[in-house]
Amino acid sequence: MLIIKNKLKKNKPDKPWTSFLALYFLVFFILFLILILSIMLYLGLLSHFRNIIAMIMLVTIGVLFLFLLSMFIALVYVYHANTTNSYSLFLSQIGLQYLMPILILLSKHFRNYNDILLFYINLNNVLVKSSKKKYFSKKTLVLLPHCLQNPKCPYKITGFISNCRKCLRCDIGHILLLSEKHHIPSIEVVTGGTAARSAVMRNNPELIIAIACERDLASGIAETKGVPVIGLLNKRPHGPCIHTCICMEEYQNTLEELIVQSNRYHKFQRESSFKAYDTTHSFLCNERRF
Ligand code: SF4
Repeated sequence: MLIIKNKLKKNKPDKPWTSFLALYFLVFFILFLILILSIMLYLGLLSHFRNIIAMIMLVTIGVLFLFLLSMFIALVYVYHANTTNSYSLFLSQIGLQYLMPILILLSKHFRNYNDILLFYINLNNVLVKSSKKKYFSKKTLVLLPHCLQNPKCPYKITGFISNCRKCLRCDIGHILLLSEKHHIPSIEVVTGGTAARSAVMRNNPELIIAIACERDLASGIAETKGVPVIGLLNKRPHGPCIHTCICMEEYQNTLEELIVQSNRYHKFQRESSFKAYDTTHSFLCNERRF
């Protein structure tokens, strides 16, 4: 019985391996075709078609060049004007989806990697906000990194944010109070990409407001398809991944700009949070006591 089971296991197709092979052979085949074509051109075997091939190559490169140039102009316009029009929206969306990942990949080995990631995040935020769409608070998910929590806090809040006592010794409490004021019920503290993905699947949001470092935000934005993501960068006054904080003004502005309240949100939370939080407080991260 055991032998049969082992045999069956062995016969099971190894999907990751077959996918790798398929992709590898596709790349290999394309390169092989280009090589054969180049050799034939070099030997003059395609002398009759030489002009046609040169024309096709010229047109292709020219169109690609013009497309890249207009995409670049659109990205620069959107980034600096902080708004879009129909022309720049289309091009910058394509640029965000296809050009930026290539630039991020290229910049990985350079010092300005984080700056390119930040450019990508800012550009994404402008594009999301430029639609002028409002989202229901009930359909909004706020994702927080666990490094926001004060390391001396005794309460476990990853997965159980209701354990937070809102003592305001870290930004989790500030964010909770402000989110409650805007009637946002879905707030999750996550430990990484996998936990963030499962939080998104669980909550099925129409808008995600994610707070994290450049790398986590950029990968989260790139991976999330079909749901707009606003990325807010955390600040690291105590070093990376420990007791980080955010600019609460930026968070508040984002909520005011994008969120409309869902009427069905629980009345109790509305009342308790209004009383508890004084929004005239200075939110600036550097001014906060730890
Ligand atoms: S606000 Fe207070 S209770 Fe909540 S996570 Fe921070 S330190 Fe802990």
